[in-house]
Amino acid sequence: MGSEGERGPAVAAAAPGQGDPRALRRDCQHRIFVNRSLALEKIKCFGFDMDYTLAVYKSPAYEALAFELLLECLVSIGYPQEILGYRYDPAFPTRGLVFDTLLGNLLKVDSHGNLLVCAHGLRFLKGPEILHHYPNKFIQRDDTKRFHILNTLFNLTETYLYACLVDFFSNCSRYVNCDTGYKHGNLFMSFRSMFQDVREAMDHVHLSGCLKEKTLENLEKYVVKDPRVPLLLSRMKEVGKVFLATNSDYSYTDAIMSYLFDFSSKDEAGSPQRPWRSYFDLIVVDTRKPLFFAEGTVLRQVNTDTGNLRMGTYTGPLQHCAVYSGGSSDLVCDLLGVKGKDILYVGDHIFGDILKSKKRQGWRTFLVVPELARELQVWTEKSGTWTAAAASARTSAPSSIRSRKSRTRWTCATGRWAASSAAARARRSSPAS
Ligand SMILES: [Mg+2]
Repeated sequence: MGSEGERGPAVAAAAPGQGDPRALRRDCQHRIFVNRSLALEKIKCFGFDMDYTLAVYKSPAYEALAFELLLECLVSIGYPQEILGYRYDPAFPTRGLVFDTLLGNLLKVDSHGNLLVCAHGLRFLKGPEILHHYPNKFIQRDDTKRFHILNTLFNLTETYLYACLVDFFSNCSRYVNCDTGYKHGNLFMSFRSMFQDVREAMDHVHLSGCLKEKTLENLEKYVVKDPRVPLLLSRMKEVGKVFLATNSDYSYTDAIMSYLFDFSSKDEAGSPQRPWRSYFDLIVVDTRKPLFFAEGTVLRQVNTDTGNLRMGTYTGPLQHCAVYSGGSSDLVCDLLGVKGKDILYVGDHIFGDILKSKKRQGWRTFLVVPELARELQVWTEKSGTWTAAAASARTSAPSSIRSRKSRTRWTCATGRWAASSAAARARRSSPAS
């Protein structure tokens, strides 16, 4: 993400008759940041992911629900009942951490693999401990057998679960702490097997439908409903084509989207209620991204009355309000009659939605990063402090203190991981690379 968002008001100010550019300045939570220029008038087609993009799950209620279901699942396969005592803490996990399946640590690393923060369970390790386990405070990020990156919003609960499990077993007198796991009598549980158990529990919670079922039982509690979504999509449809490509199945997609587009009880100035499918030129469920952006799967049509798939591969032309299952990004382009560069695809998954669609298909991409709102809020609210600290550092402080103070501005906004990161870096004699 670059800082090009600052250019938004400047661009608006260049338009004739817009008046004072400061009047057009958006508050920081409503700005859009770019890392390259994008001419929106050249976009002929807008695509959307659903989960955590059009359907925003309420945090921390949704993560707390998933966390509870994960704990129950682990207890059902033999984990001790005591772990049910843990409650989800939204202040602990942050997206993008790495779980070391050999030593059971959660790591925050930079893009080169330099280690910034390390936690074993809920305890943050100090410099000498980190160096003992990770010489040069460096890891081989591409060693994916050992290091697992937790880079989606769905991974937040999993991240906190690793911390809780390691915390529990490390502090429980029945278990003996070993370098790569725990001993209990003649049994040994490695961090790797714990990782596999959690992965299977995650799959169970998502694939068995128990998380979806609980979500649908109380949509108001778990899903954000925003009246601007139908307005946004209808405006986009006036200037281009709009499609939905989600990994969720049809019945869940239908329930979530029906809820998001249902404003009948609000009596929206007498405007007639439109079915959610009418906002899209193409709807594809079960997309299996990132596979969708490569060879994809068989494209089938969904019977919207029963939710069942129709037999055989769909080969006909695009049908209005029809729903398809599977397929690939190439098929989407064929059905809509657009090229990759004409598409702006909006998603929250940096790998499955953004990297693959851009690198393999040349789609333009729009990444949803909800954490950025909080980062910007803290940054804005504390801007006076940063300015004063920087001015003070420039005039009086020795160079080593100057560098510490200036570094704090990058690290204050993201809770414990940032606080520990700042402390760790302040202890270093040389600046962070
Ligand atoms: Mg998503």
